[in-house]
Amino acid sequence: MKAQPKASHYINGSFVDDERGKAIPVIYPATGETIATVYSATENVVELAIEAAREAQPAWARLKPVERGRILRRAADILRARNDELARLETLDTGKAIQETLVADPASAADALEYFGGAVASYNGDYVDFGGPFAYTRREALGVCVGIGAWNYPIQGAGWKSAPALAMGNAMVFKPSENTPLSALALAEIYTEAGLPNGLFNVVQGYGDVGAALASHPIVAKVSLTGSVPTGRKVLGLAGSLMKHATMELGGKSPLIIFDDADVENAVGGAMLANFYSTGQVCSNGTRVFVQNGLHDRFLDRLTERTKAIRIGDPLDPETQMGPLINRAQHEKVLSYIDIGKQEGATLHHGGAEPSLQGFESGFYVEPTIFTGVTDGMRIAREEIFGPVLSVLKFDAEDEVIARANDTEFGLSAGVFTRDLPRAHRVIAELQAGTCWINHYNLAPVEIPFGGFKQSGIGRENSLAALDHYSQLKSVYVETGDVVSPY
Ligand code: NAD
Repeated sequence: MKAQPKASHYINGSFVDDERGKAIPVIYPATGETIATVYSATENVVELAIEAAREAQPAWARLKPVERGRILRRAADILRARNDELARLETLDTGKAIQETLVADPASAADALEYFGGAVASYNGDYVDFGGPFAYTRREALGVCVGIGAWNYPIQGAGWKSAPALAMGNAMVFKPSENTPLSALALAEIYTEAGLPNGLFNVVQGYGDVGAALASHPIVAKVSLTGSVPTGRKVLGLAGSLMKHATMELGGKSPLIIFDDADVENAVGGAMLANFYSTGQVCSNGTRVFVQNGLHDRFLDRLTERTKAIRIGDPLDPETQMGPLINRAQHEKVLSYIDIGKQEGATLHHGGAEPSLQGFESGFYVEPTIFTGVTDGMRIAREEIFGPVLSVLKFDAEDEVIARANDTEFGLSAGVFTRDLPRAHRVIAELQAGTCWINHYNLAPVEIPFGGFKQSGIGRENSLAALDHYSQLKSVYVETGDVVSPY
């Protein structure tokens, strides 16, 4: 199996390589085989990309928003037309089941390009009336923005960051995760084909050091990172010390609260979406599943039955529902948390082992896993595992569960299942989380803001809020009479 791109980087409308950079092997997580090699950006490559972006940005920002938007919408159409081919590439890069990538990855990037390509033309400043004199505000581009991606949603991440940035008149240099370098290159080619002028969307590969070089580059006005909290602290520190704008989309340990009166099938479906989608590698996952005492046993029975039926295996088989984890390190990390859970005294209720799959013996697979009897202080209830490990915690009362749900440094997401809608809104209002669901979980349509409270991040992606975060505000006071001056 091979998926070698034409070159490692995409700068100023062309593929570029510099094999003096450190080699980055691209590994298919289902088999462990190397399917491509790219090279980490050298200083020279970083400079070329930033310079191309700086050069191209001013003319782009001067275009009418509707003209910029038209190009994004054309790129969205191309993404949709190539959905199957891009989904396959994403599956090779991430190991995620093709039945997911066919509906969730290039499609979500296309949604962002389409949405921001349309919305930007109506995204205007304010007018303030002073009874003669007046003022207005302008939303202006920031300049060169840097996007740094995580590996769980590579093309979605590239689309979610580049679409609002470009729509607002910025240029972007995007660094994909070193684990998943391929699909951002495909997006770059699609932008060029759609008519995006050269230099506005550049892709450079690399590990954390390249991300840090980009985030601290003097030309760069803004950094948007998707990654873990420790990386977020480092990147925000770099950006802050240089007064750059920053958006941080970080990790979580989100609560999903299921009350006695919930529809049990919907609650089980929600809990599975909240833990097993993308093999559990979703930042917003509701990994602390709080179930009220009265529903606990019934919920657990159905959760177990439905989890047993999950088809795990070949990610390219459309029948497969769960693929492997991203790499060996993540595989070891998830298995070690399963051990920690057992040692801490939680009950390993289901899964917890490596499945034996013929032809995929070297893949990074873990069974969907359910722990019961989990208590709030256990590490499996406090730390982000980023794998298919669901913890069930029992609760009795509404106030109690709100306090326990909020007792975490994270605040990315939260969910509530109940038929009592006043209670649903009351509980959601108390939960310290940026992205919440009532009677569903893990949907992230582009029209609504996505992002975290507390350590889970700063700023928002998606919706008009993202345009705020990729622009700066200029206030203009206009006098219509004479200047009154005491001098
Ligand atoms: P990570 O923090 O290891 O890496 C993220 C990116 O940052 C990579 O591109 C990496 O090369 C880069 N990086 C690492 N060190 C850097 C540094 N010092 N300076 C600049 N860049 C640096 O995260 P990951 O393992 O790729 O992704 C998993 C994490 O991302 C999880 O914590 C998950 O919750 C989080 N995540 C958050 C969201 C969200 O929207 N909130 C979405 C997806 C993933």
